[in-house]
Amino acid sequence: MTVILPLKIDWEPYYSYAPDCGGEADTGNRLPAVGDRVRVRFAGKDYIGTVSATDVRPDIGTDRIHDIIAHEKDLCPVSEAEIRLWHAVAEYYMCSIGEVYKAAYPAQKISGEEVQARLEAREKKRQDKAARKAARQGQPGNHDAGHKDEGHKDEEDMDTIREMAGSIVLSPAQAAAYSRIKESFSARKPALLKGVTGSGKTEIYIKLAAEALESGKNVLYLVPEIALGRQLEYRLKKIFGDRLLVFHSGETIAMRREVAATIRSGNGHVVLGTRSAIFLPHHDMGLVIVDEEHDTSYKQESPAPRYNGRDTAIMLAGIHGCSILLGSATPSLESLQNCLSGKFTLVGLDVRYHESEDAGIEIIDTIAERKKHGMYGDFSLKLTDRIRETLAAGEQVMLFRARRSFSPAVQCSGCGYIPKCPHCNVSLSFHKGRGRGNTGDSMTEGRLTCHYCGYSTRYDGICPQCGGEMMGLGAGTQKIEEEVSQLFPDARVARLDSDTAQSASYGKDVIRKFSRGEIDILIGTQMVTKGFDFPNLSLVAVLQADTLLSVQDFRADERAAQLLEQFRGRCGRRGKKGHFVIQTSSPEHPVYRILSGDGTMSEQDLLQERKAFGYPPYTRVINLCIKDTQEPRAELMGTKLAGILESGNNPYILTGPYSPAVDKVADNHIRIIRLNLRKDRQLAATKKRLMRTIAEFEQKERYTGHIITDVDPM
Ligand code: ADP
Ligand code: ZN
Repeated sequence: MTVILPLKIDWEPYYSYAPDCGGEADTGNRLPAVGDRVRVRFAGKDYIGTVSATDVRPDIGTDRIHDIIAHEKDLCPVSEAEIRLWHAVAEYYMCSIGEVYKAAYPAQKISGEEVQARLEAREKKRQDKAARKAARQGQPGNHDAGHKDEGHKDEEDMDTIREMAGSIVLSPAQAAAYSRIKESFSARKPALLKGVTGSGKTEIYIKLAAEALESGKNVLYLVPEIALGRQLEYRLKKIFGDRLLVFHSGETIAMRREVAATIRSGNGHVVLGTRSAIFLPHHDMGLVIVDEEHDTSYKQESPAPRYNGRDTAIMLAGIHGCSILLGSATPSLESLQNCLSGKFTLVGLDVRYHESEDAGIEIIDTIAERKKHGMYGDFSLKLTDRIRETLAAGEQVMLFRARRSFSPAVQCSGCGYIPKCPHCNVSLSFHKGRGRGNTGDSMTEGRLTCHYCGYSTRYDGICPQCGGEMMGLGAGTQKIEEEVSQLFPDARVARLDSDTAQSASYGKDVIRKFSRGEIDILIGTQMVTKGFDFPNLSLVAVLQADTLLSVQDFRADERAAQLLEQFRGRCGRRGKKGHFVIQTSSPEHPVYRILSGDGTMSEQDLLQERKAFGYPPYTRVINLCIKDTQEPRAELMGTKLAGILESGNNPYILTGPYSPAVDKVADNHIRIIRLNLRKDRQLAATKKRLMRTIAEFEQKERYTGHIITDVDPM
């Protein structure tokens, strides 16, 4: 039989099975079947593998076929659907099936019994709750109702869900979107719900999910990240109760296995999870929802499989033959293109549920303002006036700045020296120390930190080259916070970025306080821009928006427009009209014209541009990323590989090898070869051929482990 091992090998090794292995001499020993877990030895190490086929004839000598060490009957077998998904992912993302298996079943650290014990405890809790409920409803002596009649209890759950979901009355616009989605499902087409923030997409998801449960099926509800405040989780918990299973990579392995075991145990679950939830042992699926489908955090950067959760969810739904709904206020160009080509159904929902208008956009030209002496530090007087008005009205303010730290870089005012990371080709950011009395202009205490590799060193404000005085370049969130506190000494101010949110409880606390109105001004990085729903937030502002635009990437404009639109959607969610202020030094940038919706620039224009330049979604990109501690070798290998890939007649256009914007990270020099592939039927075959070519190259040059293949890079 063949066994899938959690390794980067592109074949499945053969093993044989002696029925008496595992020390059980009894008669009940069945042979391992496809999907069963087995312990085997490979290259001197033991692994838990998954049987992928039992009927294959090895094409190697029997002396090279080893015995299975043990048939791990305590470990849950893997379903055929799971193995099919692994194959699909491995093929599409050009990795080994073993790498997918490893992602789906991370190391087996916790014993099966422990999971069993937790499951029993959870079941007991459910029963107690049911019993209490029964007692409240005046049904004496029904204490062990759950024990006696499992089906009855489930019915009760379902009644509650039906009631809750039934009580959602869709607005006419929502109802229209809802029926179009259902039509699309009947036609077995994925649907893309393009609904402005606050239009009530979530309510539609809830209704559809409840219906799937009603018909005895399961639901997978994917989100890009489990947001700090967990507002969505509470909202779903209220409706689905114990049937809601939350799954994300922040959970312990034991918790994740518990979710997997619960899914296996029956039907009627809603799994709310991040991308890795795709690899749970799904069965009887009724619906897959991919919320915020455009979000880049759906893409796994490292390790392999470097998959996109949205696209893999589409594969999953295909395998299970179930409905799939993508949703976003700012859909990806990929999904929009799929609607244009008729692969998906585009369902629009362009009114907010609470009928507030979109936040009005005000773009402030910081260069012009500075000339007019209209800037105080990083704030224009126009913006400070807006903030003052908002606070005076008893409403809240959110400020977004894309860089954490006090200043993203520092420079010597004498010799111009800019400290860089010794391990990466980036400048170091200055993080001010937390010391008391360390306010005002003190630039002399704190640390210089690398945001790529984490390197950090003490900083005293004196240039190590010439002894001159160092000064900050630009402002990060920490500096913005300081300026805000000076400008608005009476306001309650908090900051949320990956420095302050290092402890998750701090982050949750800030979100809680902000939603209760105990914080007036919240400053943050990307993490504040999406997902939250704060009723009293009426002003959102972006500082130095140029950071979002200057990235050397054909997707930068699309990204910036999505991010700004998401951020804009945070305010004015309860009938009030919000204000959205953008401070920028390039107010003429086309991205702002997409946002303002004045018709001079649209997604269609972006698509046209992509088509003209041969970019995705009109082509498929595969990046081959070469990483080497020796720069000349990275360069040489890149050139050699590009030469091989360019020879002959190829269904792709090759660019490179080129150095990315940050061409050294953690002592690895990086070169990239980019392939733009035609989107045609040959795609899968081309990928196979490429994989073979790369493998041969690695072998010939003894260069294993240096080339990373990234399909549909972000
Ligand atoms: P989206 O997911 O599109 O951003 P939400 O589903 O969060 O929008 O809806 C925005 C707000 O409107 C929420 O407070 C939600 O509870 C409310 N809402 C939306 N649709 C309905 C409805 N049909 N009935 C009651 N409240 C609704
Ligand atoms: Zn570094």
